[in-house]
Amino acid sequence: MAGMDAAQQTPLPVGYRVLANHDISHQLAQRPDIAAALGGTPAQWHVRDVADGNLNSVFLVEGPNGGVCVKQSLPWVRVAKDDWPLSVERAFFESAYMQRTEPFALGLAPRLLHFDASLRMIVMERLRPHTILRQALIAGVQHPLAARAVAEFAASTLFHTSDIANPFERKADDVALFCKNHALQRITVDLVFIDPYTHNTRNRYVSPHLNAWARALREDGALKSAVARHRNNYLSKPQALLHGDLHSGSVMVTQDDTRVIDGEFAWVGPIGFDTGNFIGNLLLSWFAKASHRTDAQKRDAYRDWIAQQVQDFWQHFHDRFLAHWQGWRGPSDGYPASHFDPDADTTELRALKAEYLEDVWADTLAFAAIEMVRRCIGFAQVADFSSIQDPALRARVQAPALALARDMLVNPHHYRTVQTLLRSLTRHDLLRPDSTLPHQDELSHA
Ligand code: ADP
Ligand code: MG
Repeated sequence: MAGMDAAQQTPLPVGYRVLANHDISHQLAQRPDIAAALGGTPAQWHVRDVADGNLNSVFLVEGPNGGVCVKQSLPWVRVAKDDWPLSVERAFFESAYMQRTEPFALGLAPRLLHFDASLRMIVMERLRPHTILRQALIAGVQHPLAARAVAEFAASTLFHTSDIANPFERKADDVALFCKNHALQRITVDLVFIDPYTHNTRNRYVSPHLNAWARALREDGALKSAVARHRNNYLSKPQALLHGDLHSGSVMVTQDDTRVIDGEFAWVGPIGFDTGNFIGNLLLSWFAKASHRTDAQKRDAYRDWIAQQVQDFWQHFHDRFLAHWQGWRGPSDGYPASHFDPDADTTELRALKAEYLEDVWADTLAFAAIEMVRRCIGFAQVADFSSIQDPALRARVQAPALALARDMLVNPHHYRTVQTLLRSLTRHDLLRPDSTLPHQDELSHA
């Protein structure tokens, strides 16, 4: 936690104050463009607090002509308040991420309308009638376009901020800007990469049911070595500008629209961190569904559909990333045209592209597994599991997720393709009739 001190001490900007529901209309009225978009007079604007995330205040404002979404960072973690002070800088990084990726987001993110640097307040397009993808997955609703749209967003934003598509100076500017996102990187480093493998009061696994699992993770040298490799990979591989928190709770959907929100964890790092985060959360949702004991046929069909989304996501990401590369005629210091004629589809260039994507897959696999572990053991749990009321049942569906995640990290050579990963799901399926997966009773006697 020592590293958190610097983040906590960041002074508040001059003029900063925490906005309450009744302040919002007054703030928006100062901006003629936003006032016009809302229409009518401020007295006619209806403000609703919709914060359901871990960190910030979020308000939806409706006027006679339309709506906007207002997001303000607070000097603490919203769900932990006084116990966890946090720099308000994160709204700056979220707005910077929205700005930088806007040309490549292909309409798959809300539009940034305004950033108020004093109040650390973002005003953005209000999405309606969108729901959070995670909630849709929990409810068992299919959104057939969502995974492909997130893949499209990831492929385009990551490709266009990588060394493939930039002179190094442009990439270095991104590194220089986003490497200052200290407070949220401290959260990622601690909550994702360190805490789950230590005794830590912030860990929130189901106890006593998963005590043996938590102990096993702490004592597993091979696992901790794999995590160390990827923690260092995360810190020392500035491959592209990451969203940094690309899970199913950062995606809003309707049947025909998908948007990626909440880029406050932006960081220049390995591409596989974003793709792995998304895949890891789909897999968690697949495991959580095993807790549904009624209508087995419907449940199994939905789980098959989730598994298909993992495949669609990776395949589409892979194909779109390569398509952007194929069409790229701009500057590139990574693969300069003076070495590789972009119009000549040479064996060498094809081999380099395949190598690049294989490396992204290896990272994706590891970061997906690390995400799965931290969401079962660490501080920030996911609703897919926490909505399972019975703790014993929750632990029972989390144990096979942990078993798969461990194997993905320690034996990555078993998972060279997305297909092999998906085939392995049946081996780790709690619902398999002959399932011999570790059970918490057996583990606690281990
Ligand atoms: P946090 O960073 O605190 O996790 P999020 O950015 O995830 O906050 O937003 C919290 C919630 O606010 C989302 O789950 C969603 O319900 C709502 N929300 C966020 N952005 C928008 C938007 N542009 N339009 C409509 N609702 C939004
Ligand atoms: Mg957030």
